[in-house]
Amino acid sequence: MKAAVLHGKEDVRVEDIEPPALKPGEARLRIEAALTCGTDLKVFKRGYHAKMIVPPAVFGHELAGIVSEVSDAGRAGQAGEWQLGDRAVVANSAPCGQCYHCRAGQENICDDLQFLNGAYAEFIVVPARIVRKNMLRLKPETSFRDAALVEPLACVVQGVEDSKLRPGQHVLVLGAGPIGLMFVVLAKQLGCEVTVAGRRAARLEVARRVGADHVIDIGDGHTLVTKIREASKAHFDAVIEAVGVPEVWEASVHLVRKGGTVNFFGGCPAGTTVTLDTTVIHYSDLTLLASFHHTPRTIRRALEFIEKGVIRAAEFVDGECPLSRLPQLFQSMTAGNRVVKTLVNVRG
Ligand SMILES: [Zn+2]
Ligand SMILES: [Zn+2]
Repeated sequence: MKAAVLHGKEDVRVEDIEPPALKPGEARLRIEAALTCGTDLKVFKRGYHAKMIVPPAVFGHELAGIVSEVSDAGRAGQAGEWQLGDRAVVANSAPCGQCYHCRAGQENICDDLQFLNGAYAEFIVVPARIVRKNMLRLKPETSFRDAALVEPLACVVQGVEDSKLRPGQHVLVLGAGPIGLMFVVLAKQLGCEVTVAGRRAARLEVARRVGADHVIDIGDGHTLVTKIREASKAHFDAVIEAVGVPEVWEASVHLVRKGGTVNFFGGCPAGTTVTLDTTVIHYSDLTLLASFHHTPRTIRRALEFIEKGVIRAAEFVDGECPLSRLPQLFQSMTAGNRVVKTLVNVRG
């Protein structure tokens, strides 16, 4: 089968690989929708991600598809609940359920998260644990491309819940990438007033389309705090950093109101440090937090939002690319193309 294999820094190749045989409890999906993600772009630029993917490895992690094989030994167990032809979405990880964090209800930071990569391929083998915990059946009316948004959306559900957003609050979302835009939709859904600050005109246009009340173009971003203060007189109850840049982390604490909450949602490269104003944090009584990844519960919640039509691929997936051109696609993403998310046609 054809699959994209990550070999290292800015080195992804589309190769013909031998489909691995199934082990007990595993299922094989024929991939029907695979989406690009900012995390994949980070991994492509860096060449690896210590936790999620170590090359050489099949690449891509947002997908939905059709069950094409179920392991024999698994038939009596959980994998056996799946039939050939079933439509499914699968998360890119599953927690162990045993460690301290899992038992404390923080499965997103499980000590032994098992990750799944290989969405940019014709087929993928889903490990037994992920079949058991994070493979969900799709309703007939849910499209594969909508369903493939489950993983990033589950991370955003986690972020919205952690930030304790409430109706009537004024929320500032820094960053108009797919994650920032999903925050806009969910915060609006909750009844918040939402301001988005971002850079690319096309994405800011999407922010308006998905319901942002105010949109601020911050240009080169060097005077972020001044620009946002000049553009908006609002007192932001919550600020969501959805960029993953240290300067934006630092700016966030100056943009939130006294007593407000900052969620450092965007991950920076390992080893990054920030300098924060202690006076502001202490005397303004700020709540600073971060949200990482998702849990089986937020994965299910995300699918519910998709089933209700709250989040639709029509607004987030604005590019399409055949698998054969994936290396060029990632080069253009590195150069900063304007697309929010690209659907990869794995049979093209
Ligand atoms: Zn993702
Ligand atoms: Zn665990």
